Amino acid sequence: MTRWAAVAGWPVDHSLSPCLHGAWLETAGVKGRYDRLPAPEDGAKKILKTALADPDCAGLNVTLPHKGLALRLADRKTDAAKSIGAANLLYRDDGKWVADNTDAEGFLYGLRRQASEFQPERAAALVLGAGGAARAAVYALTQAGARVTIANRTEKKAKRLAKDFKAGVAAWPPDVREADLLVNATSIGLDGASAPPVDFSASRNALIVYDLVYRPLETPLLKTAKSSGRRSVDGLDMLIGQARPSFKAFFGVTPPDLDARQILLEAMERT
Ligand code: NAP
Repeated sequence: MTRWAAVAGWPVDHSLSPCLHGAWLETAGVKGRYDRLPAPEDGAKKILKTALADPDCAGLNVTLPHKGLALRLADRKTDAAKSIGAANLLYRDDGKWVADNTDAEGFLYGLRRQASEFQPERAAALVLGAGGAARAAVYALTQAGARVTIANRTEKKAKRLAKDFKAGVAAWPPDVREADLLVNATSIGLDGASAPPVDFSASRNALIVYDLVYRPLETPLLKTAKSSGRRSVDGLDMLIGQARPSFKAFFGVTPPDLDARQILLEAMERT
């Protein structure tokens, strides 16, 4: 019997998770597998339930569009999953399925890795976006003691998110003058050409610009931030930071010390 875990979503063909977990499994000498589990909208519930019913299944990472479904399928939910309202991880605990959300932990891991001087307590954080990634970022930042403001193209979504986390709401396009940290949690930049409408000339010199989009690694927003002399943080370490606790939950060991960024960069070049 080989324990296995997988990333479930639709589409999942381009998911980088199997490369990373595969490398960790091999280096740690753990007998196990990490697969892709394609789960189209129509039939996703059955596919996930079948996986969870397999005694060899150590758990699932769940990605778009099934993070809400993952939460509903679990016997128990962690505080992070409950507060964010979505789960990206299902793991076994004492025979029960637990839904967790490690995106918030991944978000803070990325900040620590690339901007270790940033002190979230009382810092002014401006989060762009009000979707799933923004929810995880706002949860992480409010937990860490930051003063969070949300700006989103569709303001009513920003208001809903702000209400859930006692955060502030700002207009779109965003005014970055008062921010210590700017987080792009929108999908702008995925095309490699577009950037959120931000005027860096008016921002603080010490502004840290964190783009959660990691493909391309250097988004147009980060390019402009850098050329304006602002500190930039890319989204790749968030991906690693959300995967680390998942690996531990599936296979019971801490991920071995590997250059995870390099593994992912090579995988990105191949796919
Ligand atoms: P989502 O739920 O679909 O939310 C998308 C957000 O982007 C919404 O707030 C939407 O605003 C905004 N948006 C999209 N196009 C826009 C445009 N042209 N102008 C202004 N706003 C626009 O997506 P998500 O799950 O939150 O993910 C967002 C991004 O985060 C993804 O693209 C992904 O690359 C990244 N992400 C990274 C990690 C990581 O590990 N680094 C993890 C999760 C997500 P409206 O509400 O107005 O539509």
